[in-house]
Amino acid sequence: MKNIEIKTTQQRTNPLANVFDRFMQFCQSRSLFMLHYCTGCGAIELPPAMTSRFDMERLGIQPMVTPRQADILLITGYVSVKTLKRVILTYEQMQSPKYVIGICSCTVNGGMYWQSYATAKKLNDYLPVDLYIAGCMPRPEAVIEGLQLLQNKIANNDGHSWKDYFQNYDYYLGNQQHLFGEDWQTPTDIITEAKHYGLEAEGTYGKHTELLAKHQHPLQPLPLKTNN
Ligand code: SF4
Repeated sequence: MKNIEIKTTQQRTNPLANVFDRFMQFCQSRSLFMLHYCTGCGAIELPPAMTSRFDMERLGIQPMVTPRQADILLITGYVSVKTLKRVILTYEQMQSPKYVIGICSCTVNGGMYWQSYATAKKLNDYLPVDLYIAGCMPRPEAVIEGLQLLQNKIANNDGHSWKDYFQNYDYYLGNQQHLFGEDWQTPTDIITEAKHYGLEAEGTYGKHTELLAKHQHPLQPLPLKTNN
């Protein structure tokens, strides 16, 4: 494993508090739960990365089955328009701070599906992506290297991409509306969350959030099917 240089961006006056901050950042970077959303063929590289050959758990990263307890959302290949809706729903269910990694060239630019009408081309148009691991498909060593880069960012207090979703929500929402239609909405109230985290910014609001407010309605439970 690589040596990492830890620094804090906000120095406090009490030196002991700084030491404590650095320790906490290090602990956070070495205790990450990862939700792997296996959208494409790149997912086949995850079993060797997770199991005894490469064993990502020795780095402090282990799989998690629900978004609510996950820190990392790992997207493992091309994302169809239908799947992207579920990816966004999943991302919004995760608690902050949260991180997104796109594996495979398909998440960077659509890869070999770049001309497909059914594939979203650039994942970072719809979600704030912390890191891409390019390749078709990247080997487990590359996956491990990418995860270590993310750990270094967190330990250096440098992993703040999740804030961008709140601060530039209108941009992300606009791209989502362009793909899914202007009545697109999710169960999560991102604007209220932005206020909660103190991350409201000029880019939080705009013509797309106005459109959302116009179309927003309480989501109804699906009707129960009966045999009658
Ligand atoms: S980059 Fe290659 S391996 Fe990865 S999802 Fe696309 S086609 Fe599959």
